[in-house]
Parts: sequence; C-alpha cells; structure tokens
Amino acid sequence: MIDYLSSLNEPQRLAVMHGDGPLMIIAGAGSGKTRVLTYRIAYLIENGVDPFRILSLTFTNKAAGEMRHRIERVIGTEARNIWMGTFHSVFAKILRIEAKAIGYTSNFSIYDTDDSKSLIRSIVREMGLDDKVYRANNVFSRISGAKNRLIGPDDYLNNPIIQADDAAARMPEVGRIYKQYSLRCFQANAMDFDDLLFNTNVLFRDHLDILHKYQHKFQHVLVDEFQDTNVSQYLITRKLAAVHQNICIVGDDAQSIYAFRGANIENILNFQRDYGKENVKVIKLEQNYRSTKTIVQAANSIISRNRSQLEKHVFTDNEEGPLIDIIKASSDNEEGRLIATSLFEIKMQEGLKNTDFAILYRTNAQSRAFEEALRKLSIKYRIIGGTSFYQRKEIKDLLAYLRFTVNQSDEEAFKRIINLPKRGIGDTTVAKIAVLAAEKQVPIWEIVSNVTKHVAGRAGIAIEGFADLIKSFKLMLEKKDAYDVASHIAKASGILKELYEDKTVEGLARYENVQELLNAIKEFVDNPENDDKSLSSFLQSVSLLTTADEDDKDGDNDKVTLMTIHAAKGLEFRNVFIVGMEEDLFPSQMMLESRADLEEERRLFYVAITRAEKRLTMSYAETRYHYGRLKVCEPSRFLMEVDQRYLKMARMRMSDSTTQEREVPSGGSMSFVRSLAQKTAKSQSPQPAVAHIPSADFAPSDTSGLAPGMRVEHMKFGFGTVKLVDQNGTDRKAIIQFETAGEKTLLLSFAKLRIV
Ligand code: ATP
Ligand code: MG
Repeated sequence: MIDYLSSLNEPQRLAVMHGDGPLMIIAGAGSGKTRVLTYRIAYLIENGVDPFRILSLTFTNKAAGEMRHRIERVIGTEARNIWMGTFHSVFAKILRIEAKAIGYTSNFSIYDTDDSKSLIRSIVREMGLDDKVYRANNVFSRISGAKNRLIGPDDYLNNPIIQADDAAARMPEVGRIYKQYSLRCFQANAMDFDDLLFNTNVLFRDHLDILHKYQHKFQHVLVDEFQDTNVSQYLITRKLAAVHQNICIVGDDAQSIYAFRGANIENILNFQRDYGKENVKVIKLEQNYRSTKTIVQAANSIISRNRSQLEKHVFTDNEEGPLIDIIKASSDNEEGRLIATSLFEIKMQEGLKNTDFAILYRTNAQSRAFEEALRKLSIKYRIIGGTSFYQRKEIKDLLAYLRFTVNQSDEEAFKRIINLPKRGIGDTTVAKIAVLAAEKQVPIWEIVSNVTKHVAGRAGIAIEGFADLIKSFKLMLEKKDAYDVASHIAKASGILKELYEDKTVEGLARYENVQELLNAIKEFVDNPENDDKSLSSFLQSVSLLTTADEDDKDGDNDKVTLMTIHAAKGLEFRNVFIVGMEEDLFPSQMMLESRADLEEERRLFYVAITRAEKRLTMSYAETRYHYGRLKVCEPSRFLMEVDQRYLKMARMRMSDSTTQEREVPSGGSMSFVRSLAQKTAKSQSPQPAVAHIPSADFAPSDTSGLAPGMRVEHMKFGFGTVKLVDQNGTDRKAIIQFETAGEKTLLLSFAKLRIV
C-alpha cells in the first residue's frame, strides 16, 4: 500500500485528514488540489466510509477515471464503487433510476447539440418563423442560458425582463420556441445536456422523498474545479450536502474560465455564506509542485493584473528553469513550421517523448497549420476536441439506429435514419409525421407503428417496413448484450453494406469507422468495470463523453497533444507551446465587451501558462487567414503583460529563414514587445492596419478626463479626434475619428490611448 500521507505537505495533509463539516480548498494552479481531493477520498474509505456513499464530481470523465485508478492503488478495487464522474454523467445516472417520477422512462435518449439544433430548426419552420432571424445557434444558446439559470419555459414567458431582452434582440418568439422545444424533448423521451442538470433540480425540488434518499446516501460530497460550476450545479451540491454537511470543494478563482457558459465565480464566495463562515474550514495551498520558478512567477505577474481575485501567494521550490521563449512567425503557416521544428529540436536534444509536449490554442480552427507541420516532420499528434470520432456522420447514423431501437420516441434519431439507407421517403412525409405526433401529443412511434392510417401509398409501406425492422431489433434487447445487438443492427439496417459498396477512399474510411465503433462497443462489453452491458448503458456512456475524454483509436499513445486552452484545464505537460498570441485572437475579439470579459481572457492565459512543467514557448504570427481573408496581426497585449524578466531573448526568425538572436532591449517588456510590433509593422508596410508606429514617447494616458474634441494617439490606429465619450454603464466608451483607420468605438478601460 502506498504511504500517501507522507507525500503531502502540511496544509495538504490537513485537508486530506479533515474530519466532518464543510471544507473549502482555494489554491493556486499546480498546488495539489486534485491530489488532495484524490487522497482525501482514499483516506475517508480507509477510515470506514462506505465508497457507495461518496460522491465526487470532476470536470471530465477522464479525470474521474484517473482519480479512481489512483484511489484504487491505495484502497484496492473498492474504489470502483465510488460515485464519481462529471455532473452530467452522475446525474444522468440518478435520472435514469428516478425517471418515472418526472414522467420519463429510464431508457431516455440524450440529445447532443446537433440534435437540439435540428429540433429547433424544425420548430422554427413549423411556427412559420424566419430561420435567418431565428438561427438555431442563437435560439439554442438562449434556451441553454435560461436552463442553466433554472428558468423553465413558463417562467421564461412570464418574465418581462427576458421578454424585453428577446424583443431587443429581434427574437420575441424565443419563449414560445423554448416551450415547444421542451414539450418535444419530453415527448421524445429525450433530454439535452442542460436538461440533465435542470431536471435533476426539478426532481429534487418536486420529490422530497427522492431528495432525502440521496441526501442521506451521500455522506461525503467532493467537487473539483469548483470555480467553474454554474448556478444549477451549485444548487444540486448544496441540496445533496444539506443533511451531512460534509462537502469539500476545491478550486482556484484565478482559473475560472467558463463564465461565458454561466459558471459563477461567486459560488466560491457564497459557499462560506451558505454554510456559515464559522463552520467552513478554509485551507489555502500556495506551494506549486508542477512548474519551474520562471513559469510560476510569470503566471503570477499576469494574474496580479486582474482586479477581482482572492488573495493568494503562489510560490515554488522547484528549479529556476529556462526562460520563456517567444517565437515570431511571418504567417500562420510559418508559425506551424517554427513550432514543429522547435518541438523536434527540444525532443531530440533532451531525449523526450511526444507526450511531453502540448500545443495550446484559443480556438480549434488554429490546429490546421500545426497538424500539417507535424505531419511533415513525421511527429505523431492527437487533437482533442476537434471533429471528434463520435461527431462523424457514419458514426452518428449507426448511433441513431441504436438510439431508436432503445427509445422509439426519439424524434431526432428517427429523422436521421428513416430514410437511411434510402427508402424513398421524402422530407415532407417525415416532417408530417413529426408534426402529427406533436399535435396529438403522442410519441413518434405511435404514428410510425400505425403508419398506414396516416400516410398513404408507397411511402406508407416503406415506413411500415422500417417499423417492422425496428421491432425485430427491439426483440434482441432483452437477451443480448450491446455488442451483439449493435453488430446485428449495423448489418441488418443496411448501413454496413452501403458503406462497403462505396469503394472510394472516404467510403473505405467510413466503413472502417463503423467497424471501429463496433470494436469500442465490444470493449465496453468486455470491460469488467461495467456491470450493465446493455445497449442502453453503452449509449449513455457515449453521449456523456466530453471532448476531452476521447481516447485514441489506434493504440499508439506517444503523441503530441493539440487542444484548446479550455480543454487543457487541470492537465500538465513538460513542454507547452501557447500559439496564436495575437490581438483579437487571444484575447479573443469576440469576448471583449467589458473589463470582466478581459479578465476572463486573462485567467485563460493564466491557465495556459500554468500547464507547463519545465519549458514554455509562446508564438505569434504577423499575418493570418481569417474567414478567407489575409489579416495583419499585432502581438497580443498579454505578451506585454508578462514580466519581461521571464522572457528569453527574442528569436527573430525572419521569413527569409536567416536566424538572428537579439538581446531584449532594456526598458521593460512593453518596449520589448512593442519593438517586435514595430518590426512587424515596418516589414509589412504599406499595410493600413498596423502601419502606425507609435511615437517614441508613447505611454498610455489616464483617460478619465477625455472629452470630445481632444486629439489622441492610439497604439495601433494612430492619431485621431474624440467625437463622443459615453459615460453610461460600467465601461466608458469613446467614439474616435482616426485619420487613417476611420471611426472606432473603444472601451476606455483598456484602449491604449495617449492624449496629445
Ligand atoms: P490545477 O490548478 O492545474 O488543477 P492542482 O492544484 O489540481 O492543479 P495537482 O494536479 O493536484 O494540482 O498537482 C500538480 C502536480 O504537483 C502534480 O504532478 C502532483 O502530483 C504534484 N504534487 C502535488 N502535491 C505534491 C507534493 N506534496 N509533493 C510532490 N508533488 C506534488
Ligand atoms: Mg486540478
């Protein structure tokens, strides 16, 4: 057995051995929060707590899996009995058990985002609304936002503030769409991702007997990455912990990066209020074990710029480590090449593996250049969260067959497969069936299984044939395991045959993918950790995979990891490259509407830096294709914000591939990075976007006295005259007429302006 207690420092040990009562661990990145949570669970079990009575909530299922294995090494296979997983997977499990109470059956489907949007599109069409105004994306995000704040369709329709907001967005009918959407999901015996939390709240609110059962059952509730929980998640944990009050939360306010999805950093502050300040034991962990001094201090220098944060002092006893390298590239493609080459050099010099490296970016779309460059150097990589295996068409098709076999009310699965392979059934017929079911308020299967009453002619007969096929699949469910049923369906539905007959390269790949899915199902069935081997259980496990959960399908694990910073939360790599360090990309232009948004982007940058153990490299490109247009880019303000002591000499690799090494000029990181920017500007001229070279004495002014008529100079846009200053709201804005760049509206809290 592992002597884990001796591998902890004093505050960590205190947290692990804390007895009953609420415990809050607020600590910096890499300070052992996850480690403490893991060993606390082991400790509880060693001290007599039944693993079935421990509930542990993690950010990804993979993180839960790793945690479980670590605990297993301490306490043995008993660890398998802990209730552990993401909020979504744990509460999907509870909802299956308790489905009846809220009018569902336990084989309910889980709609993914595509299903949800497809249903919204159908409803918009049926209601005769303009689908250019009511875009599925926008409608869906409004509905999702409401659910995460626990606002149901009726509350939504009765809320004048929401109604006014929808009207202002020129979408006054969202409420009615929401209502119809909820009804249709219910009739389809389906829940979307947000419903898994929303309905859990409904379940616990309306069925106190059920709430009491789980309140008493879970003697200990533990939550990792608490800073990213939303209101809905917070309420669930609060209710569950209300009886025993044994709740342990672990988080870092500096790493809160999901506010845009409704996560509420205030939850950390509410925690003490809700459990009583005197009852909550608070432990701070300040020693970082992950990273070098350089990396820890650079990260500190960034995060200290945020106004809203809890006081923490993060330090490390680790070695100093190399300085942070900055790579400048002339284009996004060159950025790909330079990073791949640098990675290759470090790997060779230090004799490392591919898994020692990660390339982190702000948006998934950036991966392409790195993929190409890595491929050229024959370096294996895996992309987390791109177009994932389970998003592929052929995979979704077979899954839809499996879903419909398990749940014949599933409208979206039905729409996907009714004419696949082709059965000569037109879209109008399909829409008609869906509308008929909705009008009669019956599941779609009611119509399908009596179809000749409703649909005449050949289409009716074809649908009848389809219904018989599904009935025959259904018969297998009771006796056969997931693999037997699925491989039968793949054949009997005609999916495999159709793909087999397509002899193109893509066709072959699709055929192999379907085989791969069947392999995955076989693995699921053979895994002793899964006691429920039914098709329904497999489908549940698949629909709850987060993008970070997918494993490689080729069995080769030595790969460089490419992913967004959001997906990298909680992970660590020996060498990290943060790429695309440019204004408008990171910080993201889309996200910058207020100081709060900027601070969230900065926290994201902090998360990125703190993933690195030994070595950190950052890069930016001078030009980049964006929506098909070549765009001139400016280095990110974040590069200027890192204390320059931690930055290495700029390795100015010019586009003509001569390599020069330059010393960092004295005068602070601002001047260092600005000199890079000027170089960029000079080599790019004439390019209007960055053609302005700031004056030698450029220093941003205090803009509190800014008024119309004043002359100003902007870092990037050059000289201009203030037309209007808007004092309303929390963020002051100014409209400025620039001489070359035209009229711009700028947020004064972070526009780099000099009054001249
Ligand atoms: P993040 O904020 O990124 O989620 P964290 O606070 O959860 O980080 P961990 O991932 O638990 O930190 O720990 C970071 C690294 O430090 C891990 O590799 C862990 O094994 C190691 N570590 C933590 N505590 C100790 C310790 N007392 N002694 C040695 N190594 C430790
Ligand atoms: Mg962690």
